Amino acid sequence: MVRVGNELGKNIKKDFRRNYSMGLKREEERLNEKNKFDGNLIFGARKFHEITNRLGSGKPMNLELTPEWKLCVDDTGNERYQRKKDIYEPVNECPVCGNKERRYLVSRFGLDIYRCPECTLGYLDPRIKYGRIHEIYWSDETSANIFTTDAQIKVDEIKYDYGLRLAEEWGLSGKKKILDIGCGTGLFLKRAQKFGFEECVGIDPNKLYLKCYENVKGIRFYSTDFESLKLDELGDDYDCMGMWSVLEHIYDPVKFFTRMNKLMKKGGIFLIFVPNTNALSTRLFRGQSPIFVWKHVTYWTADSLKFFMEKMGYKVELIETVISEIGNIRNYLSWDHQYAGSHENDTTFNSITPEFIHKNLMGSRLMGVFKKL
Ligand SMILES: [Zn+2]
Repeated sequence: MVRVGNELGKNIKKDFRRNYSMGLKREEERLNEKNKFDGNLIFGARKFHEITNRLGSGKPMNLELTPEWKLCVDDTGNERYQRKKDIYEPVNECPVCGNKERRYLVSRFGLDIYRCPECTLGYLDPRIKYGRIHEIYWSDETSANIFTTDAQIKVDEIKYDYGLRLAEEWGLSGKKKILDIGCGTGLFLKRAQKFGFEECVGIDPNKLYLKCYENVKGIRFYSTDFESLKLDELGDDYDCMGMWSVLEHIYDPVKFFTRMNKLMKKGGIFLIFVPNTNALSTRLFRGQSPIFVWKHVTYWTADSLKFFMEKMGYKVELIETVISEIGNIRNYLSWDHQYAGSHENDTTFNSITPEFIHKNLMGSRLMGVFKKL
């Protein structure tokens, strides 16, 4: 044993000299050396955790209390946020592909989100009953208070103009009729009117937006929830439809699109803007991400959006991501609250660029252009 120890000592000295002589000032050399004692790299993370007793029932990397923790705290099974009684309904299958198999994704404030392994759509289960959710929407001042601010209007105008340009570049058949489903303050339609659309129509269930439609010329607004909307009033042969931050609110997207398709012209363009569950920000913030919220009943990815729109009879012209949330990401990675803003100019994570984020479809929102076949 002594001999081995001595040998080991010699080796250490030798290694030290070797490292020194090879010049650890060089970054790649240091990395090379550091990697040699990085268990994750040598064995693979899972194997390393398993063979070092970190992973497995009752062990520290499992998402449960270790025997020592159980001496410190009681797991009573009670959660801090309890769902209110009688207003929820179960969701037994994927709302888009009908698959009953699913995987748990994340929870936020007492609500649970699952993901369909088939089409990758996420969905709330349980969700608020459709008959009860409108009471909550009609008092949803949180959204109305955001979308009527000057700063929000300014960025939204640019965003909507961008969407209209995408529609034009991907072969808009005409500029006669446009429909905005969930038109909010009516801003997209105002931009569409400027863009040259002759007939602009909007629908929205939130009565708090009604005052935004007063004194607006040339745009028709309907204050109604989407599912009970009478289609005849809207007419047909639309050249373009938009759903900006709306698809995630729809309870039965297949049924809804089957209805809306009757209004869409062949070759018409559908513009969809929806939160991206696979955004880098959402992957990091998980249960702290505000996209996980009572009114979002579905959670989309580029794959699920493509699957869904093809199923509904559209050709996918473009799916990309927009809005990097780079500042939020920098805050979060600097141990600050993601929205606090104190570290958003931190250069530590400069290699995470908007280019990298969007190239990998990890922006905060999915933007899609679809053509009706
Ligand atoms: Zn599915």
